[in-house]
Amino acid sequence: MRATGGSAPRAVRAKAASRKSSESGGKSSADVYSRIGVRPVINGVGTVTVLGGSIMPPEVVQAMSDASRHFVPMPELQRKVGARISELLKVPAAMVTCGAASSIAVATAACMAGASPKPLAQLPGVERIRHEVIQQKSHRSGYEHQMRIQGAKIVWVETAAEVERVISPKTAMMFFLNKQDGAGRIHWQEWVALAKKHGVPSFNDAAADVPPPENLWKYVHGGFDLVTFSGGKGLLGPQASGLLLGRRDLSEAARECISPAEGVGRGMKVGKEETIGLLAALELYLKKDHDAEFRELDKRVSEMTTALAKIDGVKLTREVPAIANAVPHLRVEWDEAKRHLTSQRALDRLRDGDPSIYVQRHGAGNLFISVWTMRGPENKIVAQRLGEILRNAG
Ligand SMILES: *Cc1c(COP(=O)(O)O)cnc(C)c1O
Repeated sequence: MRATGGSAPRAVRAKAASRKSSESGGKSSADVYSRIGVRPVINGVGTVTVLGGSIMPPEVVQAMSDASRHFVPMPELQRKVGARISELLKVPAAMVTCGAASSIAVATAACMAGASPKPLAQLPGVERIRHEVIQQKSHRSGYEHQMRIQGAKIVWVETAAEVERVISPKTAMMFFLNKQDGAGRIHWQEWVALAKKHGVPSFNDAAADVPPPENLWKYVHGGFDLVTFSGGKGLLGPQASGLLLGRRDLSEAARECISPAEGVGRGMKVGKEETIGLLAALELYLKKDHDAEFRELDKRVSEMTTALAKIDGVKLTREVPAIANAVPHLRVEWDEAKRHLTSQRALDRLRDGDPSIYVQRHGAGNLFISVWTMRGPENKIVAQRLGEILRNAG
């Protein structure tokens, strides 16, 4: 954090500074960033990859630190951690990847090649290999590259009848983007049924879809052959980790193409530290009191609502997204013309101030704020700063 400048009132800056110096006798952990000129920010967006995912609990950091002190045979570690995770979640098989995007890549490879090593070694490439992936148009996400790097060709559909029409011996996988379930014409149960009917593996990208914790097994038990979650989002594991859960033969094929194996995923290395760290995070996550966490997040939202309540023409709503980041958020809405303030301008001022604050903008006069990734008094700092920006605008 900069010592001067910005628009935060002195009291807030003092509070932030005292939090900083109480951390470790005046020296802040943020120094690892600030000494190279990177300013840590207040994250009001959520567990998003671009802001660093999430903050690992101390137990997870400790497990990673312990893991870093020893050599171990990596293939054995991968197998045994996978087995332990599959037991915990009661799913047939599990592996640690280096993120949900990496899961998509190795799952595609596994589905294209099947369990036999020969076609796997042939990847990337499509000669004599089934290589088409079916996806609903409404489920496009920007992660299509992770399938295309294996040579897969994506076939877009909208209806079940279209799936029936395009499915063929060339079909390798049916890709589903869980958070878009509400937007697509084919819901997940029907997607799974279509895949099963034709004997094609189905994959569900549920990267940001815990909580609730039940989602970790719900979709595998519901029939998806493979499901992924980011390790560094709701699970609070290492940012460079992910879970790939599901069918044993496909999981084994996926492991065969990730480092240290020499397949198409050789560059997707999951270190011993991340492997152990994600296991520790998962064990902690399954023991956690999720209702208590929800109540804490609600408290943060209501503190912000109280702080922002008396601003004329500003509407405040508590919202819990139905799927993906399904925790309490605050929506702040106003009439841009009446207040002479665009939401883009408010967003810029929050970001450029001190401390720097990131929130989401949902169109004109509409900000969406996650309190999930805020710590200590950060929700109050955000409310105070946003209050000033809104009041001073008119
Ligand atoms: C975050 C995200 C990913 C990528 O996850 P990483 O763990 O960062 O690789 C993929 N799909 C969806 C829907 C996501 O939200």
